[in-house]
Amino acid sequence: MVKPVDLLLTNAILLTMDETLSQFENGAVAVSGDSIVAAGPEAELRKQFEAKETMDCGGKVLMPGLVNAHTHVPMTLLRGLADDLRLDVWLMGYIMPVEREFVNPEFVRLGASIGCAEFIRSGVTTFADMYYYESAVAEATAAAGLRAVCGQTIMRFPAPDAQSYEDSLAATREFIEKWLHHPLIVPAVSPHAPYSCTEEILRATAALAAEFDVPLHTHISETSFEVENARRDWGMPVVPYVKKQNLFDAKVLAAHCVHIDTGEINTLKHHGAGVAHNPSSNLKLASGAAPVVEMLNAGLNVGIGTDGPASNNDLDMFEEMRLAAMLAKFHSVDPTSLPAQTAVLMATRLGAQAMHLGQVTGSLEPGKRADLILVDINQLHNSPHFRRDPNSVYAQIVYATKSTDVSDVMVNGKWVMRDRKLLTLNEQEMLAQAADLAKEVDRFLIARESSVLSKLIAIGGTTQEESFEIQVKVKVEDPQPILEALVKPGIKIVYNRHYREYDTYFKFKPEQGILRYREDEFLDERGEVDHVRYRLTLVGEPHEREFPSDVMLSRSRFLAPANQSLRFYREYFQPSEEIHIVKDRLRWLVRFKDTEFYVNLDRMDEPALGHFLEVKSRTWSRRDAEHKSTLVLELAKFLGVSTRETEAREYVKIVEERS
Ligand SMILES: [Zn+2]
Repeated sequence: MVKPVDLLLTNAILLTMDETLSQFENGAVAVSGDSIVAAGPEAELRKQFEAKETMDCGGKVLMPGLVNAHTHVPMTLLRGLADDLRLDVWLMGYIMPVEREFVNPEFVRLGASIGCAEFIRSGVTTFADMYYYESAVAEATAAAGLRAVCGQTIMRFPAPDAQSYEDSLAATREFIEKWLHHPLIVPAVSPHAPYSCTEEILRATAALAAEFDVPLHTHISETSFEVENARRDWGMPVVPYVKKQNLFDAKVLAAHCVHIDTGEINTLKHHGAGVAHNPSSNLKLASGAAPVVEMLNAGLNVGIGTDGPASNNDLDMFEEMRLAAMLAKFHSVDPTSLPAQTAVLMATRLGAQAMHLGQVTGSLEPGKRADLILVDINQLHNSPHFRRDPNSVYAQIVYATKSTDVSDVMVNGKWVMRDRKLLTLNEQEMLAQAADLAKEVDRFLIARESSVLSKLIAIGGTTQEESFEIQVKVKVEDPQPILEALVKPGIKIVYNRHYREYDTYFKFKPEQGILRYREDEFLDERGEVDHVRYRLTLVGEPHEREFPSDVMLSRSRFLAPANQSLRFYREYFQPSEEIHIVKDRLRWLVRFKDTEFYVNLDRMDEPALGHFLEVKSRTWSRRDAEHKSTLVLELAKFLGVSTRETEAREYVKIVEERS
């Protein structure tokens, strides 16, 4: 009996990407409503079905729409903002400060719409996203007619759409309730990464995802640095750590998994987690090569993702398939390790399975939604064709096809592109808005880069609170008399400390001040390191002034704990010059004439300059600074220091030159 269908696609090289990877040289697909009714030889389908409409595919490849298993789609608006930087400098130094300033629902909607246009043009019908205001991503995606797993980001830092993680969690619950059962959108929970969350957040997000049976999309083991930190802080690699936080109670989609071992691969497999491999991003950020072949051999569902368009910098899944194949070959020194057919499988069915959408999309099989594309492989750059090896068509797709060869795209039974014309989006209008926004972002960053202080504030490095330091610094030939003076009556020791200090001074143009990165090693009685502290101090030159006694120096200072590495600050601030100083410091907090002062007795080891005495106090007001300046001088005299003014003045100069 002949069955009616809505559409019969004929005269195609059909790649079904089903379990047996069946392909048909004269293939056809029958579609009714949003679903595929049949896929197979054209002659058979013509006998079985009577179609309202028949479309001749003109010998193009008819295959499942590509699945981008990991991205941050609104970041199309930040494409090219900052490149050729390390991940932490790129993320903490540029992307996050700009996101805090500019990201709102309109930004997200526009960025996601542009991303959807790029997806359609390059044959992507399904993607897994993770961003802020994810409801706006979902709206834009549904309006564009694409399919997505939309993950609302949750992390321990304040985000553009939430002041606290509790706020994000509540908003994510609402987001899930709103989008659950939508035909195109699957809402998801996205704890950003184990390092940017807490145990509590990981547990709460897993519980929320499990409650609604929605996917949990996160970043796992992207860099070796992350894994080193995990071993140091948690005593184990990342996968066992998240397992301990019950993350696998949820349906996990883990992006990256670059630095995981065999045990972790088995854990992911055991818990049915999917993996998104991001070759462009891993190459561009030099994160490393994920053990893709080992993961595939273990039976894991490994999809391919582009990662965000600000770290790629495009959303081209044809390029990504090619790189996935080539990176695996290069990494294993084996050209047979990841054949073209496997790369196509990863970019289609395996990707859908990794996103926990395997029942819905990823292959052209009866019962699945009609998410399909037509690819013209008759272009100059993709000719001629050999059919001796049936797999040669996959090689054509992976090694020679360009994303611009995609001519037609259907999602959920509806065309979103016909003959390279977009049917659901207006590119010109969106690009004009993006250009205006880029100008605003440029203005913001140019203003910020004009001062070291504003760059420090931009990374959350300090508040704008000023303090003043009053100090006398003198070179001493013999420290013994000072040690003796400290125990005389008239002075009271509140406490004493012993440190080893490693200072790095970043110099800029004089009016920008000097930034000091200090590593303090606290030494115990036996002279062994007890603990370490890292601090950042911006010493502002413009506020420097000398008090009447001539030996006092006061400069405004901005203090901050140094949460990032010295290397991070070097790459972020890009000083014109760097100076390193190492010293052994004995420090006393003393009470002298009802006022507290610090007394530092330093032995300068690098450069080897001998001993120095510093008597200092810090205050938050200029008036107080002037008052204390007299007492500082008195205390120095009490400690037996010659404060002949010329000598002292000279030393102030030495310190300034050296620091
Ligand atoms: Zn990512």
